[in-house]
Amino acid sequence: MPADDFLMEEHLDAAVGNILQAVISPAELHERLRPPRTRIVKSKGTDYKTFTVRTGDKAVIRMGGATYRVLNALTSTAATYFVADEHGRRPSTYWPAARDRLAAAIDSYASPLRSPSVRPIDISPRQVTAATSFAQYAYRFIICHELAHVALEHTFGAGADPDDVDSLRASQDEELSADAFALRLQLGSLPHPDLIVTALSAPVYFIFLLRAFDDFRLALLSQLVDHEQWAIEYSHPPYLHRILNLMREATASVSDDAGEGLAAVQGALEELVQNVWSAALESRDKVAAKATELLADPKPADAPKLTKLLAKSPIGVLQALDANQQWRQPTWPFHTTVPTELTTFLKLSRSDRARSIA
Ligand SMILES: [Zn+2]
Repeated sequence: MPADDFLMEEHLDAAVGNILQAVISPAELHERLRPPRTRIVKSKGTDYKTFTVRTGDKAVIRMGGATYRVLNALTSTAATYFVADEHGRRPSTYWPAARDRLAAAIDSYASPLRSPSVRPIDISPRQVTAATSFAQYAYRFIICHELAHVALEHTFGAGADPDDVDSLRASQDEELSADAFALRLQLGSLPHPDLIVTALSAPVYFIFLLRAFDDFRLALLSQLVDHEQWAIEYSHPPYLHRILNLMREATASVSDDAGEGLAAVQGALEELVQNVWSAALESRDKVAAKATELLADPKPADAPKLTKLLAKSPIGVLQALDANQQWRQPTWPFHTTVPTELTTFLKLSRSDRARSIA
């Protein structure tokens, strides 16, 4: 069963009000992090990226339209792997399907699709509690992280100059200090002390969300783009730095055990993500092979088959289309099946493709 609908996403102002209980003084800071000085909104798209836009002394925190959905897909998949099902099996019987859905989502978000998507992940009722609470507290941590940027008056954000090492280092330092400040906000505003283990581990899920989706894009696209033109995101520190930094903060503000607990979560999620990545590569190559067969003798009746392959791995279909360019002909039967942003992407040179989506 898919996890329940998530209310925090619909009540962002209330969520911020709740978190700000951790900030009683100075009053000026409390004031600065609340409307009208700081507002929080959710985008209407299917993106998962969150960021803060500052103009003068005002800030707008923009949550991705699918941030929670994508987080929940990761925590649900993790639950199918780590939490035993009704039959006591671990990984549970839900795991293979969950792994493949998450792999398909990573492929979809790595592709040039205009509205990438993640389909709901089926999990056992026993796994729902873990999946939902980690997703909720990871989402809450993201809000804390953005509030931290505002509280600490950070200036670089996404504006770091990719050609200037000092500016990138400053930007990475800001991310690390925002994470540490965010963890203090998260822990300082818990509705109940029993939630501390969840509240501490959830940020690791958030960092692994970025790792699972962002760090694998080039590997999935490697046969379609020129890797030398791929602009890697240097404004954010490598994921391991962020986790070590959170461990240090957890040890300092809670206990040695808290730091070690984060290390265990990091090890477990690393194993999970490696498994999902292998599945993503395997699925991409299988889809590419099947799509190649389909394109060798294209019949309009095969359109639903192509649609299914697109849902599994748009990048696999792109590889097949790149090798067989009949889509350039006006009589090609799949023009309405393949989204135009995919063929537009294929018309670009390999370096322009890298630049257009990196
Ligand atoms: Zn940040």
